[in-house]
Amino acid sequence: MSVRMRLQPEAIGSGLTSQRVRDRLVERLRENGIRDERVLNAIRTVPRHLFIDEVLASRAYEDTALPIGQGQTISQPWVVARMTEALLACEPKKVLEIGTGSGYQAAVLAALGLEVHTVERIGELLRTARKRFRQLGLNIRSKHDDGRIGWPENGPFDAIIVTAAAPALVDALTEQLAVGGILVAPVGAANSQSLLCLQRDADGRITQQTLGPVVFVPLLSGMVD
Ligand code: SAH
Repeated sequence: MSVRMRLQPEAIGSGLTSQRVRDRLVERLRENGIRDERVLNAIRTVPRHLFIDEVLASRAYEDTALPIGQGQTISQPWVVARMTEALLACEPKKVLEIGTGSGYQAAVLAALGLEVHTVERIGELLRTARKRFRQLGLNIRSKHDDGRIGWPENGPFDAIIVTAAAPALVDALTEQLAVGGILVAPVGAANSQSLLCLQRDADGRITQQTLGPVVFVPLLSGMVD
């Protein structure tokens, strides 16, 4: 896999952000059932420590969610890997992410060579994520908006990934899914959700499977600066 990213010295890291530490995370993900080498390679390459505050950088390659400010979190690497693996099953080209947050999940998708569109409702987080995309030379399309409306002007999308939890699937998003496309989203109560993976077939029928329990921050309405 060719990883499309510019790697400056700070992106390569040292000590607790070194390649050796990242390789250990990848081995852990492999032991925990992540099989797709393309995904493992993307996780190995994308510098997660640049997507969190410097004071937390030493924890960047632990398999855990971490705070990113504004009451939000960067997802656990295993969850990012599992969701990405699920999306790749339909061999997508154009992907929509709802909930840019730190920008890490979007960067992993872009490193896989996908055309990434991402929407974030908190302006402050989106501005920081955009800076990171620029630093890493990642060409990611992003929008400050309430992602529950999706991005209809740019759709349909071969795959859609929702990285915030809602009590039910959002119809506007399912409607923007191309034929054969896969949508992955955490659905359920505030403190625990099921990771749903659904695919739209040629007749417009939707098939659905559950990938397991997850905990995400809530999908909220409206926008904030
Ligand atoms: N994918 C992110 C995870 C971020 S946590 C990462 O890799 O870091 C979930 C994000 O979803 C938060 O930043 C939150 O502000 C955002 N969010 C919640 N509701 C949203 C909505 N309706 N539209 C867009 N973003 C939303």
